[in-house]
Amino acid sequence: MDKSYDVVVIGAGPAGYVCAIRCAQLGMKTACVDAWVNRDGKPAFGGTCLNAGCIPSKAMLESSEVFYRAQHEFARHGVMAKSIELDLAQMQKRRAEIVSGSTLGIITLFKGYGVDGYAGKASITAPGKVKVAPTDGKEELNLSAARIIIASGSEPVELPIAKFDGERIVDSWSALEFSEVPKKLGVIGAGVIGVELGSVWARLGSEVVILEAMDQFLAMADQQIAKEALRQFKKQGLDIRLGAKVQSAKATKTKVKVDYSIGDKAESLEFDKLIVAVGRRPYTRDIAPAALGIKLNERGFVVVDDHYQTNVPGIYAIGDVIGGLMLAHKGSEEGVAVAEMIAGQKSHVNYNAVPSVIYTTPEVAWVGKTEEQLKQEGVAYRSGAFPFGANGRAKALEQGIGQVKILADAKTDRILGVHMVGPYVSELIAEMVLAIEYGASSEDIARTVHAHPSLSEVVHEAALAVDARAIHFVSKRKQAGAG
Ligand code: NAD
Repeated sequence: MDKSYDVVVIGAGPAGYVCAIRCAQLGMKTACVDAWVNRDGKPAFGGTCLNAGCIPSKAMLESSEVFYRAQHEFARHGVMAKSIELDLAQMQKRRAEIVSGSTLGIITLFKGYGVDGYAGKASITAPGKVKVAPTDGKEELNLSAARIIIASGSEPVELPIAKFDGERIVDSWSALEFSEVPKKLGVIGAGVIGVELGSVWARLGSEVVILEAMDQFLAMADQQIAKEALRQFKKQGLDIRLGAKVQSAKATKTKVKVDYSIGDKAESLEFDKLIVAVGRRPYTRDIAPAALGIKLNERGFVVVDDHYQTNVPGIYAIGDVIGGLMLAHKGSEEGVAVAEMIAGQKSHVNYNAVPSVIYTTPEVAWVGKTEEQLKQEGVAYRSGAFPFGANGRAKALEQGIGQVKILADAKTDRILGVHMVGPYVSELIAEMVLAIEYGASSEDIARTVHAHPSLSEVVHEAALAVDARAIHFVSKRKQAGAG
């Protein structure tokens, strides 16, 4: 069957499906093709984020947190539960329902906006031409479109010394779907996935050891915040070992033996399951023949210009496949931007105002520059911080841990970076993303009324602290350069 479109989007993850919807909103005849097949053999839109990443992991983080709090916190509230039991099958059922509800939602959105969604493997055969092998094995489709947008995403990096076997040595998708709580769980990589999944299973009762190659924890985050997060995670029983070089991981029928070393000291551990979470790489296999000549960089990411155009006219790329921060919301914004650019509008993504969030307890969130980056760039700044421990709402939530830190330009007071560790900072960061987007100063935030009692007061007080005038905390020192 042959069909003609204005735009064909390859990939229906958060970059691709959002792009397809925006293209349709702008009056373009749009198709979106995705090859994802779930464990039940059924195709689904939504990509890694909805099927195997953001959404199911948040479902499991929430459920495991409820279980943990019921055991460790209810009594402090005076809520005496006689016995708390884990029904992992029910927890997994809930996760699966949330996933299927979300992916079905994309079908509804496609219908509503008039996007043709195809379940199948797409490959670009020539500029303007896409061949689709439908997932249901039916007749091949030939789509033509003046614009093709590659949004094929990324896949987990596999370590040659610890290859995925789907049973003992697993990737982040399988690690969300364990049918039993592993007694001993190993994780290679203390990045975002390592600490999020480590937290899920630790709360459900696993003994978790995370082996991280680097000496620094969360090297991409502000190190003061990273250190505080590490302290909290260790308190919760996550055994995070930094500077650990893994030599081998050997699976037997029931266990995985991991040999690693820290400095000169060789160590060996045995686990029931091992999660390998050492990053993701762009997914470009079979998307286009090499002869088409779409340029990739040395790390395999599709190279694009600032209009998301590849070197081949009419072919664009967005999301994880072009690199940068591999975050769903970054991909979605690129999807909107490229659609608007194709429609002849002005559009842009402000990469300096993209929030990063780690959904642990406490959560970690940041936007803009870290203190380390500002020092390296020789930028003079002032810093204001405020602890959640001095906030009434956080105490009522039984989560008076962590802090908010605001970094502002020493001369102009413009906010350059905001770093948070604490309760619901995934939500609190939004105010500061907006502040950076609008070029706000710390004074702007300090003069803004924040509801009492609320966690947002911690952001307010941190802004006041930039000028050493926080109210509910007595600062021992006036911040450098302040007044
Ligand atoms: P990551 O880059 O966040 O972390 C990988 C970690 O593995 C790093 O700390 C790295 O030093 C370590 N590592 C690499 N090789 C190693 C080795 N051989 N032995 C030990 N440690 C090793 O990657 P990830 O956690 O796999 O996540 C993949 C991507 O998905 C990231 O870009 C992440 O931002 C994204 N993601 C985001 C969220 C979120 O936004 N909350 C959640 C999950 C994943």
